[in-house]
Amino acid sequence: MPAKSMEDLVSLCKRRGFIFQSGELYGGLKGMYDFGPLGVELKNNLKNAWWRSMIYERDDIEGLDSAIIGHNKLFKYSGHSDTFSDPLVDCKECRHRMRADHMKDSTKCDKCGSENITEPREFNMMFKTHIGPVESDESIGYLRPETAQHIFANFKNVVDSTSRQVPFGIAQMGKAFRNEIVARNFIFRVREFEQMELEFFVKPGEDEKWHEYWLEARLNWWEEQGVPKAKIHVLDVPADDLAHYSKRTFDLEYEFPHGTDELEGIANRTDYDLGNHTKAQSEYNITAKVHENLDSTTKMAMRDTENNSWFIPFVIEPSAGVERGMIAVLNEAYTEEDLGEGNSRTVLKFPKHLSPIKVAVVPLKKNHDGIVAKCKETKEMLMKLGIGRIFFENTGNIGKAYRRHDEVGTPLCITVDFDTIEQEGAPVTIRDRDTMEQTTIPYTELKSYIQKYFMK
Ligand code: ATP
Repeated sequence: MPAKSMEDLVSLCKRRGFIFQSGELYGGLKGMYDFGPLGVELKNNLKNAWWRSMIYERDDIEGLDSAIIGHNKLFKYSGHSDTFSDPLVDCKECRHRMRADHMKDSTKCDKCGSENITEPREFNMMFKTHIGPVESDESIGYLRPETAQHIFANFKNVVDSTSRQVPFGIAQMGKAFRNEIVARNFIFRVREFEQMELEFFVKPGEDEKWHEYWLEARLNWWEEQGVPKAKIHVLDVPADDLAHYSKRTFDLEYEFPHGTDELEGIANRTDYDLGNHTKAQSEYNITAKVHENLDSTTKMAMRDTENNSWFIPFVIEPSAGVERGMIAVLNEAYTEEDLGEGNSRTVLKFPKHLSPIKVAVVPLKKNHDGIVAKCKETKEMLMKLGIGRIFFENTGNIGKAYRRHDEVGTPLCITVDFDTIEQEGAPVTIRDRDTMEQTTIPYTELKSYIQKYFMK
């Protein structure tokens, strides 16, 4: 049972240290969030799961971590300087600002209902900056609005240094910035966020097959993160709504607490991007409508070994937002359980690889020297397994410790009691988050039990 509302999630995230409004002490920065002690773990775990599925569990994708600030020509030839904009409407009565394509009624202000509103005007969403001490047209740079363009810019570097042939991909995850007209719905639409993007390069003509392949692969991946396929609607974006670079796009729309909305886009970007950035465009049979490029120093082409000609690969791009993924994962994990006799509990039933804390070690008695020492020894031992965060929960109240760890999704609590410290091979109790069952095993088997439990 997912959360009843976004408020349920927002309040749990703040209370338990997942997500905070950025700059809160000075009134807050709209569309910016900071990730607290548990939020950073959840975020890293989700990103690691993506990286593992792209890089470590396959043999046809290379990784990249590029600069965040990009060359103005990169965004000129990608089309972002001219077209990366949203239509902005202002209400002349109450000064409310809206995105024209998100308005409830295009003739009236969403807030006060006045019809005294401006015509929509295009607002470029890129954050501009100057590189170096002199502010001039030449020194302009942009905070990347997507990680993708730097992948295209590095295409030849990766091909030359790895000797890859198509089909192959380049994956990158990291920050992206968009000066959204209206930031809203918690971390769903923010101005600074992270993306997990793959550009998968294929032979023209094989693009449609690979597009279908990646749709299936991405749906399976979300399922492994606890977001079932049944909750994701695949929108085959109608031709009229397609981005200018796209031949076809599948939007994965998830049932967020605020409504069904985009979680990930999987686009067939054809040869648009490499075609735009390549030197000597006229030497290739580029199918997309590209800008003339007289500035590029690099040919973005590959050799077709079958007929000894050069071609510009097509690109399939699965592009997911980390923050939107976090809401989906939190929402699916969120469970309220009635335990009878007026008792209830809130549990985050994360898949264990996503849990911010893996194991909590709980002493039966708070200030008992022997028990506390054994807890610390246990924590030290488990920390060395490298499975993630192990937490010494020294609150002294077992019931409260269990509830607290249910609420942050810790899969296992280990309770050290008087028996545990008696002798070698004495029992230790393991309590399962989802079933609340308590199992007793000999302490000597604890290490291998935990190791096995967290093995993928
Ligand atoms: P939307 O239509 O919701 O503005 P988009 O189609 O512009 O999204 P893309 O350019 O396809 O988004 O970006 C790929 C992914 O990056 C999106 O599916 C989403 O998960 C994430 N994303 C895009 N914009 C934002 C944002 N402002 N805040 C958080 N995540 C975002």
